[in-house]
Amino acid sequence: MNRIYNFSAGPSCLPLPVLERAGREIACYGQAGMSVMEMSHRGKDFIPIAEAAEAKLRCLLGIPQNYKVLFLQGGASMQFAAVPLNLLPETGSADYIDSGNFAHLAMEEAQRFGHVRCAASSREENYVKIPEITGLDKNAAYLHITGNNTIYGTRYIEWPESDCLVCDLSSSILSEPIDVSKFGLIYAGAQKNMAPAGLTVVIVREDLLGRARPGCPAMLDYAVQAKAGSMYNTPPCWAIYMLLLVLEWLEGLGGLAAMKKLNQAKAAVLYDAIDQSKVFSSKVEKRFRSLMNVPFMLEDDEQNKRFIKEAAANGMVQLAGHRSVGGMRASIYNAMPREGVEKLAEFMKDFERTL
Ligand code: PMP
Repeated sequence: MNRIYNFSAGPSCLPLPVLERAGREIACYGQAGMSVMEMSHRGKDFIPIAEAAEAKLRCLLGIPQNYKVLFLQGGASMQFAAVPLNLLPETGSADYIDSGNFAHLAMEEAQRFGHVRCAASSREENYVKIPEITGLDKNAAYLHITGNNTIYGTRYIEWPESDCLVCDLSSSILSEPIDVSKFGLIYAGAQKNMAPAGLTVVIVREDLLGRARPGCPAMLDYAVQAKAGSMYNTPPCWAIYMLLLVLEWLEGLGGLAAMKKLNQAKAAVLYDAIDQSKVFSSKVEKRFRSLMNVPFMLEDDEQNKRFIKEAAANGMVQLAGHRSVGGMRASIYNAMPREGVEKLAEFMKDFERTL
């Protein structure tokens, strides 16, 4: 087996022990005599998988009893619409913080459904920081934020206060402990830190259920999905099973506090390499640096291209930065081993010597 280091922003690398176990179980799960991919989602073999995935997620994240966990489809982008359809009354207003491309898309999508206010934005500065929030609308139905900005490599260091804080945690969920009770709703696409693409996790406070607009499609209505135990229709069974394996892997590592330490140590290796270099730089304001996505660049774009190409030749792939930022971006989610980050940092030093 010749696995390379995959720094993709998502879908991204999964823990090797998880992939190996899924491989062993792929044709025949337990005593079921069939693959998880072939099972009825309402059958006796799959139900315990879905229940265990929810129970372990609740345990790892410390999700309080008055929150529902939903296993949905449609990606985080579908939640950009589901959130206002459920939480923004036709005559009401919602506050959005514009801290990156996906935050902006979420805000634009919500504008299709009602009155939305941009409460703070760092768009003019090409999102190198989380914008300062100076005034929030006390009557806003909710405040929407993006916890970690995947493209720009920034993250909140403090959660804003709101009775109904809605957070897109797609690119940092399960990377560190969080206090779920500070949020009204959290959503995340699975394909970075949780499972393969196809699963979207929603964690929603119960008092926010049952507020969907009359025209809201049943599939997007949180109350409908909660009542049906996320089985209003066929859920993404395979991705839920993979989530269970990832959660077991996380438990084995010691949970989210242990994961956070590993992530901090990994990120430090890379940020130190950037800070000590005379040629690599990062535009992100230091205090907002993400632990998950690390953009960095060389002055000359030809050199960036050469770096990406030579890194790939050395077994480190998907390092190109997003087109709106340029340069490089290393996504170092939970499953990226420390060795991968160390190898990248060493490669940066070697590359610098060639300039
Ligand atoms: N929000 C964030 C923070 C993301 O990083 C992404 C995807 N990279 C999205 C939303 C969109 O997710 P999806 O593709 O699951 O719709």
